[in-house]
Parts: sequence; structure tokens; C-alpha cells
Amino acid sequence: MKKRSTVLGIDIGGTNTVYGFVNNETEVCFSEQIPTHGSLPISDLLDRLQSGVAKFFDQNPHLELDGIGIGAPNGNYYTGMIQNPPNLSWGNVNIISEMNKRFGCKVKITNDANAAALGEKHYGIAKNMNDFIVITLGTGLGSGIFSSGRLLYGHDGFAGEMGHMPIKYGGRLCNCGNRGCLESYVSASGIRNTIREFLNQDPKNEFLIDVYGEKIDGGMLDDAFDSGNQIARKIYEYTGEKLGQGLAQAATLLSPEAFIFYGGFSNAGDRILKFAKESMNQNLINDHSERIRLLPSGLPQGKAGILGAASLILFD
Ligand SMILES: [Zn+2]
Repeated sequence: MKKRSTVLGIDIGGTNTVYGFVNNETEVCFSEQIPTHGSLPISDLLDRLQSGVAKFFDQNPHLELDGIGIGAPNGNYYTGMIQNPPNLSWGNVNIISEMNKRFGCKVKITNDANAAALGEKHYGIAKNMNDFIVITLGTGLGSGIFSSGRLLYGHDGFAGEMGHMPIKYGGRLCNCGNRGCLESYVSASGIRNTIREFLNQDPKNEFLIDVYGEKIDGGMLDDAFDSGNQIARKIYEYTGEKLGQGLAQAATLLSPEAFIFYGGFSNAGDRILKFAKESMNQNLINDHSERIRLLPSGLPQGKAGILGAASLILFD
């Protein structure tokens, strides 16, 4: 029996890791989510991945592994390393050689936002675009940039860190050690900073106390916004305004046709993007404004990372 080849796509996140197999270059035929356990050595995650993969091939003897693509925080396409990933205690890991030892096939890696951008280009909303920027909104803010049809890696493989572009000099202290980074305003942790600042100005406000105390989650904040809650509106308006300033800077430099939003709180969608678009247009030079689209991801939640990582091999 001739075996059909399949590619393993792995999306390593700060909390969870998802992996899946991509066949016929179009679909994920199996996927599973496992906890990353970032406080343990990476061998713990790789052991669990390896046994999951072995089980899959036991159940699918007609398939064989053709290669592995990985998207990971601070994953470097050039060096094959995961370099001091935030929120994970791994330090520097040569993931390519670790995976080679275990699986004995071709392995490629890039960072998680680049994987999302590759997913959009090959399988999602950006199929017909050559110039676009994917922004991943989660605990932090990541970005993957396509320019003239190619993913931008830069000289050292770390191009496109939009989350750490300063939008306010001397502003909030960011996890990277600098001040005023876009991520410290526009991300789950950035929104939490905003809520804390609003609460400092209005310490008795019960809604803010509940939001800050996490009695109200992101979905409930969306509902409050929809029912006309003025504070929820202020939180999203402020976040959108800051996001728009960052988009304008990136657009001035790169002239994309669209920004595509993927991940966690991008579910807030138009509630934030409406303000972001206004702010972006105000901060752009005339010729650019009104031309650049802000779009939600075209891929099912959770699958973009697997597809994008797999495309490192499938579209090599
Ligand atoms: Zn930063």
C-alpha cells in the first residue's frame, strides 16, 4: 500500500498548544489541544506531543509524516530556535534539532504571528493579497507582515514586532522593558492597564470595580458595550484610538491593503475596530486614508495556527 503523506502543524501558545495534520494542502484532518505547561522544561511538552502523534499514526496506518511546521512565541525562522519566549520558562531552545531527534523529518519554525499570516495567505482571507498585516490579539499583540507577496523576516528573523512600536514616548512600562509600546495599550493585558487607570480616576465606580476584579469577562464587556454602557464604550474607544495610531505608523511604512485581526479579543471586532479605523485615518497622510481595510480573520478560530505552521512545509 502506498502511503499518503501528511504534514504536522503545531501552534505553541503561552497557555495551550494545538497541533493537527494537514492533508491535500487544504484541510486539518485531526487536531488536538493540549496544555503547554510553560513552567516545565520543553521536553515535557515534546513528550506529550510525541505520544499524541504516535497514537495518530497507529490509528491512520495509510498516512506517513512528511514534515513538521511550528509556530511559537519568539520562534526564529533563520536560526530554528525558540529564543526566550515570554511567559514560558524555556530560555533558548534549538527546537529543530529537538524535533529532528524525535521525528526524523524536515522541521521548520516561525513565530506564532507569522504562522497566522501564512495561514491567512494560503488558506484564509488574504489569498489574493500581496501586502497585508496580520495582527494577533491575545495576552500580547503580535504581527506578521506580507510585503510584495513575501513574509517579512528581516535581517535577524524578528521583523514585524508591531506590539513593541512606541505609540507614546514615556508611556506605560511594557513587558519588554521599554515604555509606551502599542502592546501595553492594545492587548488583553493592555486593556487591563486601561481599566486600572480608569479605576484610579474613578475609584468608586462599581462597573470598573467588577471589570477589574474580573467579575466581568471580555464577552460581558462586549454585551455592556452593546447595551450602551458608557464606560465599556470609553474602554473600547481608548483602545481603538491607540490601535489606530499604531496601524497608521505601520501603514505609513508598509502601505498594506488590509490589516487582518486574529485571536482572543479580536472577537470584540467592530466595537474596537470602528474606533481604530477613525483613529488610523486621522493619523495617515491623505493619500492612504480610507483605502486600508480592517478585517476579521478568515479562518476558523484555532485552525489558522495549525494551517499556517503546516504551510511552512507545504508551500516551502
Ligand atoms: Zn514593548
